[in-house]
Amino acid sequence: MTTSIGVVMTEHIVAGLLTGSLGQQKLEGERLRYPADHDETEALVGLPSSDLYDLLVSQIEPLIAASQEPVGAIGVAVPGIVRNGVVEDSPNLQQIKGVRLADALGEVLRTRGISAPVIVLNDADAVAAGLAARGGHLDRLIRVWTLGNGIGYGRWPQSDGVWEGGHTIVTLDPKERYCGCGGVGHIEGIMGNRAMRLRFLDLEPEEVFANAKHGDARCREFVDLWHRALAAGTASMIHLGGPGKFYFTGLNVGFLELPLLRGFLEGMVKMSPLQSYSLEVLKEDDATAVLGAGVAALRAQSW
Ligand SMILES: [Zn+2]
Repeated sequence: MTTSIGVVMTEHIVAGLLTGSLGQQKLEGERLRYPADHDETEALVGLPSSDLYDLLVSQIEPLIAASQEPVGAIGVAVPGIVRNGVVEDSPNLQQIKGVRLADALGEVLRTRGISAPVIVLNDADAVAAGLAARGGHLDRLIRVWTLGNGIGYGRWPQSDGVWEGGHTIVTLDPKERYCGCGGVGHIEGIMGNRAMRLRFLDLEPEEVFANAKHGDARCREFVDLWHRALAAGTASMIHLGGPGKFYFTGLNVGFLELPLLRGFLEGMVKMSPLQSYSLEVLKEDDATAVLGAGVAALRAQSW
């Protein structure tokens, strides 16, 4: 079976049906979204996990009904540390921390007569899988930073480990403690949306970046720090995993100035064998992560 469903649950839920032969899957038809209003970003905050399951089922059921073929697997991408179907931690979706999400959702689905296996993966890993699938490069190393409420780090092919790149330490300043996980000095504590709101109690992130463009010194200084944090995280990944291609996407990718990032990175990566990296910005787009979730779920079945 090569039909699957991809679901992504971040500050909203989006789901789609994938068809096509293995390695050539494409999204078919409309993607479903909850909440339908794109401006509503707090809809899932504080919802009990049982309500989340019901919402997920309400997105999955119509796709199953619309499918011409039996659905072989359901991939659900969520932020946080995900291993063996268990969400070990999820600072930005706390109600699923410690939940055996694959089992729990599978059980609810079975009460509705849906028996397809559920695979749970990290949302940034889903973006990386989607990029690999879209380019037909399922054999290539893909690394991606997702810049949103949290800072995600995804890689394809999936490999054992935790890979919480967004919590890489990028400063030793003890005052840098805005990360959603509570840790000091993390990338997310500088770049995450929530962290930016905590730092600038009087300004929205959009205003900070706009003010920086208009010459406000405090905002300009922060925008530089924001880029240096991302450069530092990327430099660490290059020093550990080697050069190669890095993608940047997510809600806040519009804030990213690639030349500024590249300038900081050049100061941080000096060993010549490591300098053959490339950087690419991708417009925020749910479709890539949905595709990746569905592809990764099918892959997990065929291994
Ligand atoms: Zn952290």
